[in-house]
Amino acid sequence: MTALPTLRRQRHPLAAGAAQRRLLAELPLSRSFEAALTASGLEPLRPMGTDVLQLNVGKRCNQTCGHCHVDAGPDRTEMMSTEVVDICLRVLASSGIGTLDITGGAPELHPEFRRIVEAATRLGRRVIDRCNLTVTRLPNYRYVPGFLAEHRVRVVASLPYYQSRQTDAQRGEGVFDASIAALRELNALGYGQPESGLVLDLMANPVGAFLPPEQSAAERDWRRELARRHGVVFNSLLTITNMPISRFLDHLERKGQTHAYLEKLVQAFNPAAAAGVMCRFTLSVGWDGTLYDCDFNQMLDLPVSSPSARHIRDFDPAALGARAIATGPHCFGCTAGAGSSCGGAVA
Ligand code: SF4
Ligand code: SF4
Repeated sequence: MTALPTLRRQRHPLAAGAAQRRLLAELPLSRSFEAALTASGLEPLRPMGTDVLQLNVGKRCNQTCGHCHVDAGPDRTEMMSTEVVDICLRVLASSGIGTLDITGGAPELHPEFRRIVEAATRLGRRVIDRCNLTVTRLPNYRYVPGFLAEHRVRVVASLPYYQSRQTDAQRGEGVFDASIAALRELNALGYGQPESGLVLDLMANPVGAFLPPEQSAAERDWRRELARRHGVVFNSLLTITNMPISRFLDHLERKGQTHAYLEKLVQAFNPAAAAGVMCRFTLSVGWDGTLYDCDFNQMLDLPVSSPSARHIRDFDPAALGARAIATGPHCFGCTAGAGSSCGGAVA
């Protein structure tokens, strides 16, 4: 598997969230995100409550996918500390938040991944693992599929396409074959099988600077082709738009496509998608405990606007509930067409 250097390793200017925000803010777009929200009666964007606590447990990953908004990779060392993990679990226990969504990097590489899953399931919370699939092929992580099944964790697995060429072009040579092997193992454990209750969703993002296909039509294609070619089954396909952040932003810059891609997103703004964006019901925790409206704002170093509750140790539902969500041009990625979120299309 090819491991390209991350932007951080390259000392690339776009490794910094502030530089990304500046670049996006300077684009001469036909409309600002705030103007689009105002026209839809949604400005300022407010949360509707916190249904999901999303932990970004670290930036380490066994892959360096070309579109990664985290700039994750094997050379990243940021990891959530035991102290922050404990605080997150205390917040989960004392709040009514029903779902713990664990992401990274590859979350399974976190040394406390097992403890986090076990604690959250003991609390009766729904747990989601955002799994890149290939991590389960690494010698020390062969336990992961069985462990996830045992704890009835919902798996959301990345697979940008049902063919190897497109998948490997985005995620690295050999990723498709390793992903299929992982999916077959998950299927053998009951994942994606009717009436097993073990949920296996696939997450697909376009292999380029265009919007994702219509989710239900794409799901039919993925289901047919994965079954026919590989005997793989799954529950739902979630489509997600490539966000103009981090490595995909660098890709756009290198191709001279940043303005055209952002303008495409602006033109596809959908007020119904804006009303359902994930930041309205999700709270995102960074590896160091800082709170964000979403994983994307996290990568742009754009914390929640509530000054008294910017760290998980200061978790305050009232202050967080009254905040205005921090938005910017990148938010057009969530509101274009049918919308896009960690749960797929939203409208
Ligand atoms: S997209 Fe996912 S699998 Fe790929 S480098 Fe980023 S975190 Fe890792
Ligand atoms: S990028 Fe984040 S803050 Fe902006 S609309 Fe999407 S989820 Fe909300």
